[in-house]
Amino acid sequence: MSDGPNPGPTRLARLRVDTAAIAENWRFFKKQAPAAAVAAVVKADAYGLGAEAASRALAAAGARVFFTATSGEGLAVRKAIGEGPQIFVLNGPSSDDAQHFATAKLTPVLNSLDQIKLWNARGPMALNIDTGMNRLGLGPEELAPAAVALKDASLALIMSHLACASNVKHEMNAIQRTRFIDAASLFPKAPMSLASTGGVLIGADFHFDLVRPGIGLYGSGGLDASNPRLAPVATIEAPILQVRDVEAGETFGYGATFTAAKKMRTATVALGYADGYLRALGGRGYGVLAGTKQLILGRISMDLIIIDVNGCAEAAPGAMVEFLGPNARLDDIAALAGTAPYEILTTFAGAVRRAGARS
Ligand SMILES: *Cc1c(COP(=O)(O)O)cnc(C)c1O
Repeated sequence: MSDGPNPGPTRLARLRVDTAAIAENWRFFKKQAPAAAVAAVVKADAYGLGAEAASRALAAAGARVFFTATSGEGLAVRKAIGEGPQIFVLNGPSSDDAQHFATAKLTPVLNSLDQIKLWNARGPMALNIDTGMNRLGLGPEELAPAAVALKDASLALIMSHLACASNVKHEMNAIQRTRFIDAASLFPKAPMSLASTGGVLIGADFHFDLVRPGIGLYGSGGLDASNPRLAPVATIEAPILQVRDVEAGETFGYGATFTAAKKMRTATVALGYADGYLRALGGRGYGVLAGTKQLILGRISMDLIIIDVNGCAEAAPGAMVEFLGPNARLDDIAALAGTAPYEILTTFAGAVRRAGARS
C-alpha cells in the first residue's frame, strides 16, 4: 500500500512456486509408502516457498497431517487449511504460547520431561524420542519417567528422527531404528513415525505408521540418496540488464578473478547475494538461457552476476535467465554451491519470495 506513483520493484528476481508439483511429489511419497499415512512438513514457511499455498495444495491432494517448527507457523497453516487436518508443532510448547495451541488446535511434539509437565495432557500430543541426533527429544534415561507421567494419556504419535537418512547405506539408520522400536515399546498404543524424505526412500522397514517428508515435497531427492527425479517446484529467474562484448585479456567483477582468454560476449544479470544467491556459486554456478547453461564468470556481487552468453542470440536486456528450476535443478545447484538443497531453498527462494511479498 503506497501513496503516489508506483515506486517500482525493489528486486528484479522472480520466484514461481508450482503448487501442482508439490502435490505431485506428495503423491510420489504415497506410492513409496502405501501402508503408511503421509504427512507434510511445512516448517520454515514450507522451506522458504510459502507455507500457506503449499499447505493448501497438500491438503487438496489429501494430506491430513502437517508439521511446523513453531506454534506461530502452525497458526498460519491452520488459517490456510482450516479445521480438520492435524498440525504437529515440532518444537513443542513453551510457557508463553499456550494460547496459540488452543486457538489453532495445534498438537505439540513433547521433547522433554519439562514439556510433558508443561503440557499436562491438556490435549492431544506427540512424543519425540532422541535415538542418536542429540538435538531434541527424550533421552534413554527419561523414557521410564515419561512412561509413568503419560500412563493415562493417549499419544497421537511417538516419533524420532534419523541423523543419516540421506545416505541409505549409513549404519546409523538401522541403529536408530532399533532404539526407536525399543523406546516405543513403552508406549504400545501410540502410532509410530521415524522417516523423513530420506527415510521413506530407505525402505518399508522405516515407514511405520506415518512418514514425514519435507524436502522431497519441494523437489529434492535428498542429499546423496539414490535420487528419484521428483518434480521441480521452485523456479527463479532474473533479467539481463546489459550485454557486453569483451576483448581477450579483460577481467570480470570484483577481484578480477576471471580473465577472458578470447573475445567474448557476456551478460550482466540483476541477481546477487542480496537475493540469497550464494556467493559460493561464483565461477561455478550457471544460469539457463534459451535452454543452454551459461556459466557464471568471476565473483557474484550484491545485486549483479556476469554470465557467459557467447553464441546465444537470445541474450538481450530484459531476457529472463533461470537460476533455479527445471533446467537448473535444486540438487545440482546445491552441490555446486557446496551446500544442501534445504539451504538453497530457505536462503535463495526464501529471500526472493520475501522481497516479492514486499514489492
Ligand atoms: C525437518 C524435519 C522433517 C523433514 O525432513 P526432510 O529431510 O526435509 O524430509 C521430518 N521430521 C523432523 C523431526 C524434521 O525436523
